[in-house]
Amino acid sequence: MKSVLYPGSFDPITLGHLNIIERATRLFDELIICVASNVDKHYIFSHAERVELVQQSLADMAIDNVKVVYWDALIIDACAEFGAGTILRGIRNMSDLNYEMQFSQINNRLSNGTIDTLFMTADEVYINMSSTQIREIAMYNGKISDMVTKPVENALKRLVKFSSANDGLLPNH
Ligand code: ADP
Repeated sequence: MKSVLYPGSFDPITLGHLNIIERATRLFDELIICVASNVDKHYIFSHAERVELVQQSLADMAIDNVKVVYWDALIIDACAEFGAGTILRGIRNMSDLNYEMQFSQINNRLSNGTIDTLFMTADEVYINMSSTQIREIAMYNGKISDMVTKPVENALKRLVKFSSANDGLLPNH
């Protein structure tokens, strides 16, 4: 069985991520969405919320070869744990590519050449979609309904409400 691991912050998951997921599930027997934590990053959603929003966002999609896991260690160790021989990453532009090339070479070296990274380019409509921008738009009450699923839109709205009631603070997790 050919499994691919799709790691990312998913803070939160966007329609861009879902487009990559939908297309990649046709190439592999199994796709493992790996909601990862990076020590250098601050997340607005807890890891449990990020996992839940991925699961809720997948609920309306007709795909059954996807599983969602949480991981807070090296990505190549997640590949070993979940039996994936390939890492999947999405590319929107040249700066993604520059970063991803280094990441893929490091992972290949760390795994003694056993793990390769597959890059998929974003569909044109999703090319400018990033979790960072969506978070910013949501914080200023902008329209995000064409960039995220309903569960994510609702979760972001709840967060904005919490933040405006608490002097701009976000929940601690
Ligand atoms: P990370 O913190 O690891 O970059 P993200 O959740 O931001 O996590 O992204 C996970 C993966 O999805 C990355 O490979 C990223 O380039 C890709 N990605 C993010 N947004 C899009 C999009 N709109 N279209 C295609 N790929 C995307």
